[in-house]
Order: sequence, then structure tokens, then C-alpha cells
Amino acid sequence: MQSISFFFRISLVSLFLFLSCSTVPLTGRSQLDLIPSSTMLSMSYQQYDDFLKENKLSTNVKQTEMVKRVGRKIQKAVEQYMAENKLSYKLKDYKWEFNLVESPEANAWCMPGGKVVIYSGILPITKTEAGLAVVMGHEIAHAIARHGDERMSQGLLVQTGGMALSAALATEPETTRQLWMTAFGVGSSVGIMLPYSRLHESEADQLGLVFMAMAGYDPHEAVDFWERMARQKKGQAPPEFLSTHPSDSTRIADIKAEIPAAMKYYKK
Ligand SMILES: [Zn+2]
Repeated sequence: MQSISFFFRISLVSLFLFLSCSTVPLTGRSQLDLIPSSTMLSMSYQQYDDFLKENKLSTNVKQTEMVKRVGRKIQKAVEQYMAENKLSYKLKDYKWEFNLVESPEANAWCMPGGKVVIYSGILPITKTEAGLAVVMGHEIAHAIARHGDERMSQGLLVQTGGMALSAALATEPETTRQLWMTAFGVGSSVGIMLPYSRLHESEADQLGLVFMAMAGYDPHEAVDFWERMARQKKGQAPPEFLSTHPSDSTRIADIKAEIPAAMKYYKK
């Protein structure tokens, strides 16, 4: 009897996992997706607002305008890409926002729904507008591929045994908030920086190159940016961004190999 109920439970779990999968654009990979996107979005908008209240927006008008300009161009590219692939419904509830915060940290991230933050400390490494487009394209690609959602799903499985996000928020708000910050690479306030897996990084690189190319930025700039990033490693305190986005020769070689495919989307 026991083994029957065991198999019954196993098949229920597999059915649940099967129903809880979605597909990553471009790569077609099937991913774990335990959290309804409406829940992710409402938490995202709340966390983003809180973050902006707790952090200082940059007063540098020129740099702030550049962040918003690059952001809008990438947004248009993403909308076009998703429309061409009949995936616009995935952007339905997006409320895009691009902000530059004043911070010595070199970091950047995009929360669900297109909520982007660039830290002023990363601008010396991005150097040019195209360099910023590399970071913006890459971070937005993480959001489009729902990598943070996937990390959040995995985190909930490990820490709360797969509790629903809304329930976890109600019973363990602080743990859930920290899980969120870690999943999206927000960083130092929680002190844990969990690197994106090689799989997530390579998907975000591939998609990011396409987005930046469609937005009118030469994808070759990505090689220069990641080489500059790799050189940062030798310094004493590695940038936050490098902790979540490890840069090495394999990654740079992979990006070089993906550039010809991205160039087909390049609009000068
Ligand atoms: Zn990344």
C-alpha cells in the first residue's frame, strides 16, 4: 500500500512540476516556474519603490539621461523582438523604468516588469553609451528569460519547502525579502551575492546581444566590456556585478562566437 501511495505522490509532484514550467525565449529551454507572474510583479513593484526610497537617485543630469535613453531604446527592441516572436503577452503588465542611483558600488539589475537600476559605480567600467547598453541589454535579458523568478522558485523550494510566495511573504517576510534581493542580485544590504549559473549567464548574454543590436548598438562592444570587467577582478574589492556575473575567458569566447548571429539584428 505504502509503495502505491509513494508512486502516487511522486506522480503528483511530477505533474505539478510539469504544469509549473514555462519556456525561455530564443533558447527554448523549459524552466521551473512556481510563482504566478502577477505575484512576482506586485512584489517587484513594491521592492523597487522601497529600493528607490532607501537609495539616492543620481543628480548627474547627463548620466541620468543616458541611462533613460539607453533603457528606452532597449525597451523598444525587446518589444519588437517579442512581437515578432508572438510573445508580446509576456510584456503585458510591464511598467518599464530606468533609474541611475548614486552609489560607489558597481552593480546593475532588472526586476520583473522592467524595473531597472544602474549604480553610478558601474559607469567607469561601462565607459561609453554602448558599454552601458551591454549591461542594460544583459540585465533586461535576465528579466525577459525570468531567471530571477527561477532563482526565487528554487530559493522558496529550498528555504520554505516550496511555499507559495504570497504565503511566504505573510509568514516570513524578512526571509522572503532577502531571498528576493539575492535572486535579483540587489546585493550588499543583505550581504549575500549568489552568482547566476553559467546557463543563465549564457542565455542572458545571447539575448542581450540581440537586444542591444536591435537597439542600434554594436554587439562587439560586449567583448570590450566583459574584458574590462574581468580586469576588475584583480582589484581588492570585486564589484558586486562581478560577484553575480562572473567574467572569464570562456564567457568572452562564447560571446565572440555569438556575435555573428546578433549582427543579423544590428541596426546602425
Ligand atoms: Zn548576468
